[in-house]
Amino acid sequence: MDPAQEAPKSLSSVRHIILILSGKGGVGKSSVTTQTALSLVNEGYNVGVLDIDLTGPSLPRMFGVETKQVHQSSAGWVPVSIYNNSADPVNENGKKTRGNLSLMSLGFLLGNRNNSVVWRGPKKTAMIRQFLKDVVWNGGDSNTPLDYLLIDTPPGTSDEHIAIAEELRYAQPIDGAIIVTTPQQVATADVRKEINFCRKVNFDVLGVVENMSGFICPHCAECTNIFSSGGGKQLSEQLDLTFLGNIPIDPTFVEMIENQDNEEHDGKKKLIDLYDTCELKPI
Ligand code: ADP
Repeated sequence: MDPAQEAPKSLSSVRHIILILSGKGGVGKSSVTTQTALSLVNEGYNVGVLDIDLTGPSLPRMFGVETKQVHQSSAGWVPVSIYNNSADPVNENGKKTRGNLSLMSLGFLLGNRNNSVVWRGPKKTAMIRQFLKDVVWNGGDSNTPLDYLLIDTPPGTSDEHIAIAEELRYAQPIDGAIIVTTPQQVATADVRKEINFCRKVNFDVLGVVENMSGFICPHCAECTNIFSSGGGKQLSEQLDLTFLGNIPIDPTFVEMIENQDNEEHDGKKKLIDLYDTCELKPI
């Protein structure tokens, strides 16, 4: 077999790979990645998150680990551990209630969050290929394989996406992509391009999430559709895709992300806070 056709070794013990895509930036792709990761960890799964949104790697900040660093070992890059369940008790079924969570992001390599990546295409795609090949998930321990690897991609369809598609072509199993959109038609028109891309590169579309879908008044609990609503659902019906649900605008979520300037966070506390206090609950 042509060595180029082998799955990257670092992904060989990963059970499920899910891409998170969006047609535009700012629609909540990283927020949905964060919440999906936390939900899976709280279900007891070991989760890795790979942030290859080179346009603005925001996940270190969202997970409260911005000041942490990745390390290079002889086997590859060791991602930042956000939650480690080794000290957790086991439940009556002999299992840990929460899984492990780790993150690899270009943000860790930039040093300063005000720095941006101004690389040309080939350098960006080389970095993405390296991210997919050289990260040692779960410490390389085959006894605790990664149940889910969530990949937060840049918005739109670009060279980066083609690099991902080429690199993942031989990794099994790829479950497919979750597409995040806001309700407006403008955003959903871009989503169609994303869906076409998935079809071209043979990625299944697992479903569509409509984020920022209405604002629920904290006083009277009435839902106001600040933007138009229903775009994601309509699109799913038109294109015969699974509609995974809508998520309202939740001001407490923004507050939690924004009010953590330069603080060192306890990963466990952050995980619990984020998940329990301001989970982006579907409407
Ligand atoms: P993207 O990854 O698509 O660029 P982000 O996930 O970074 O978007 O979200 C952009 C901004 O919107 C962030 O400040 C985030 O905290 C906020 N945000 C995303 N989804 C919601 C939501 N449902 N409620 C409130 N704020 C949200």
